[in-house]
Amino acid sequence: MVSETTATAEDTESQPTELPETALETARHQLNQAASIIDVDPNVVERLNYPAAVHEVTIPLERDDGTVEMYQGFRAQHDSVRGPYKGGLRYHPEVSREECIGLSMWMTWKCAVMDIPFGGAKGGIVVDPKDLSDAETERLTRRFANEIRNIIGPMTDIPAPDMGTGAQTMAWIMDAYSVQEAETTPGVVTGKPPVIGGSKGREEAPGRSVAIISREVLEYYDYPLEDATVAVQGFGSVGANAARLLDDWGATVVAVSDVNGAAYDPGGLDTRAIPSHDEEPEAVTTYADETIGNEAVFELDVDLLVPAAVGNVITEDNVADIQADLVVEGANGPTTFTADSILDERGVHVIPDILANAGGVTVSYFEWLQDINRRAWSRERVNEELETEMLAAWDAVRQEVETHDVSWRDGAYIVALSRIAEAHESRGLWP
Ligand code: NAD
Repeated sequence: MVSETTATAEDTESQPTELPETALETARHQLNQAASIIDVDPNVVERLNYPAAVHEVTIPLERDDGTVEMYQGFRAQHDSVRGPYKGGLRYHPEVSREECIGLSMWMTWKCAVMDIPFGGAKGGIVVDPKDLSDAETERLTRRFANEIRNIIGPMTDIPAPDMGTGAQTMAWIMDAYSVQEAETTPGVVTGKPPVIGGSKGREEAPGRSVAIISREVLEYYDYPLEDATVAVQGFGSVGANAARLLDDWGATVVAVSDVNGAAYDPGGLDTRAIPSHDEEPEAVTTYADETIGNEAVFELDVDLLVPAAVGNVITEDNVADIQADLVVEGANGPTTFTADSILDERGVHVIPDILANAGGVTVSYFEWLQDINRRAWSRERVNEELETEMLAAWDAVRQEVETHDVSWRDGAYIVALSRIAEAHESRGLWP
């Protein structure tokens, strides 16, 4: 329901510093850090510190008992210099205006790192979807789609699933939008069921890209994949797909976790025998001979740690416990800015989310291409093209890391910022 107090950017900025940074604070820190390394027009950086627009709507929902409740919804559109806005819709009680802005900024960088012709957006509804029946979720979604209909579209802003939403949510939005436009418009959202224009391989794509980037970084730092040990926090869509692919390719996955704790086997887990969040929610520990606590996953002496659960999990408080040599970010924003600096000083290489999990938005782009062309691709083609795009992005970031002698996060931001700044300089500011 609509809460009476909505936090503003000013509220957030006045929080004590020991609290984990908000997504917006982290996103701004990262932008300005990258801008300090390369020669980029400060006027462009000033523009990129702010979203182009943040739309806020209140959505009336008729509950199953006939009462009406109002919910708050947002869509933050950060930058569209390289193409239509693109980003997820989240249904979560902690969705807020500034979280949407911060996440929309990450989407801008992520699309630019991947050289995808999209800009960044993010949105959502302040709701716990577990409190709603399926029929209520459908009514809320369709009404939300109607409230934001004027600001989304296949050539303007293309939502996708995020926390608390999925393929069915996207199907309802596509239907609501198409009915109002009197034209079936699959390209208005991505992450749809394949039967109405979704792409094969979309669901596995973020985990697949995490696995591809993990493989590359292990090779870069001379850890043979078949000798590498890996711990994964979160065994959902991203974590399970990444862990299973790395397992298939010969790595030893010693721990995978969910909210209840971790399955642990120093000799290597059979990751396909453990159900993912989608297959059986929060059941990781019930399938393990040996379990350890959730936080203990961060303390394992492994070659590679993959945080793939939620944001802000590697913080000032636990960064000293991290034993891994390499961290590949599967979740969005798992490492706070302060923790990231400490890891960097310690020589732990962190491969950022905007590169590692960008397989999701990359296959969303493939889905949009398929929708516009009304032609479906095979799973093999999707996976082959994803591999090509990930390797191209990895190469672009690697070159910046080597040229400027910077962290992988700064390297990725330099790639993104250079491309966005060049596009802004080329288009100019009007009026
Ligand atoms: P999911 O809901 O499928 O799985 C999340 C997993 O994390 C579950 O196993 C859950 O038990 C576990 N988890 C939650 N809180 C935890 C905690 N405190 N400690 C340990 N485990 C915890 O989610 P997902 O789609 O895999 O997304 C995970 C992260 O990846 C999120 O940050 C999301 O924004 C990001 N991401 C997702 C996609 C996508 O398309 N699915 C794409 C890019 C990034």
